[in-house]
Amino acid sequence: MTAAVTQAAPSWYAASANALPAQPSLRASERADVVVLGAGITGLSTAIELAERGYSVIVLEAETIGWGASGRSGGQMIFGYGCEQHTLRNLVGADDARKLFDWSREGLRLIGERVAKYRIDCDLQAGHAHAAIKPRQVEELKLWQADLQDHYAYPDLQFWDRQRLRQTLATERYQALLFDPAGGHLHPLNYTLGLARAALSLGVKIYQHSKVLAVQEGARVVFRTAQGDASGSFAVLAGNAWLGGLVPSLEAKIMPVGTYICATECLGAERARALIQNRMAVADINFVLDYFRLSGDHRMLFGGRVSYSRLPPPNLRHSMRQRLLKVFPQLADVAIDYVWGGYVDISMNRAPHWGRQGANLYFAQGFSGHGIAATGLAGRVIAEAIHGQSARLDIYQRIRHRDFPGGKWLRTPALVLAMLWYRLRDWR
Ligand SMILES: Cc1cc2nc3c(=O)[nH]c(=O)nc-3n(C[C@H](O)[C@H](O)[C@H](O)COP(=O)(O)OP(=O)(O)OC[C@H]3O[C@@H](n4cnc5c(N)ncnc54)[C@H](O)[C@@H]3O)c2cc1C
Repeated sequence: MTAAVTQAAPSWYAASANALPAQPSLRASERADVVVLGAGITGLSTAIELAERGYSVIVLEAETIGWGASGRSGGQMIFGYGCEQHTLRNLVGADDARKLFDWSREGLRLIGERVAKYRIDCDLQAGHAHAAIKPRQVEELKLWQADLQDHYAYPDLQFWDRQRLRQTLATERYQALLFDPAGGHLHPLNYTLGLARAALSLGVKIYQHSKVLAVQEGARVVFRTAQGDASGSFAVLAGNAWLGGLVPSLEAKIMPVGTYICATECLGAERARALIQNRMAVADINFVLDYFRLSGDHRMLFGGRVSYSRLPPPNLRHSMRQRLLKVFPQLADVAIDYVWGGYVDISMNRAPHWGRQGANLYFAQGFSGHGIAATGLAGRVIAEAIHGQSARLDIYQRIRHRDFPGGKWLRTPALVLAMLWYRLRDWR
């Protein structure tokens, strides 16, 4: 095998990726216990969990390992899911909502365990905070903290008022923070590549440039590519927002939404530390949120903006810079070295959409921009179900999901209006 790195998006992540031996494309008919579509965190986590249990696994990736959201993400590790806990309470009841929350914390721990076990070099850093911009949001943070303490036994969260947060974060933009020492951030592409390396070491076969063009269900599920096919007694769809019409019934439940990140030039250790002294990751609680953190080489990685079309927004670099300067005006002299984006798979209620279709075709999607920790957990939960223990997946499968009307690119005016309403709410 020759040395090559992934050709992920032209991002700072791609520029700083740890090289992984190039993986071949599928050019034959192959069999395994389980076939997995997608070499993001969901697919690789599933593969690792299964291989650790003794299953043979083939992963088929249309592009390269980590090419999707996993290699482009903000990398922020956050408890919970894309929806609020009360949404889950309404959907599955208080007891199961509590289990889902506890499992999301397992997802956070799992990252640390995998980094240690497989020695993954991915700049793992502890500490995450949610930020309030407006007085209304300060109250929201307090209520949130109380709810998590009272109903979910999550005492670790710390409420920081403006004075306290200013000791750590050099911005006037926020009125309060909810700091979570158990959250954190990492280099998501290097984490994904590290998972791939771990999977390979466990005997998993990964084929790159092997887009699944057809799925044939049956006693053995067959994934067909242009030059071959792979079949398994079980199959897993972990294609996120990129399935492109392969399984319309699943794709109708999610909407691909573009989100964007920029990376500044290197700031140097001292200037970076002056901005975020404890190097935590931060995300505000607007619907169209800003999120940021420092990279291992002391850049500011700043994410935000959304788009509901296939095209990147016009003047992206300029508008990302404007957003960055709203939080850190002291970076006006700093160059932006990289700007990139990707799609998140938003479900209508922003709750996770994981489950089984038919007898042996499993899927996990609907991470709703909240997938760094939840994807790892999804892989474990699906592997457990394949191994015969479906109690956890059954609870996720009880979460009801509705189809998005009007096709996945949000052509219906009603939905554009719904999103606009959320954006207007951010301005209150
Ligand atoms: C810009 C951005 C910022 C984000 N920031 C955060 C954050 O800070 N914190 C957080 O928790 N979450 C964040 N997210 C979300 C998080 O990154 C995702 O939820 C997560 O990475 C999804 O992982 P995945 O493995 O399910 O999908 P992906 O990583 O997208 O992997 C799916 C893979 O499937 C492949 N595929 C698709 N169709 C086929 C096919 N037909 N045949 C073969 N292969 C196929 C794709 O090529 C892709 O590589 C962000 C996402 C983006 C895009």
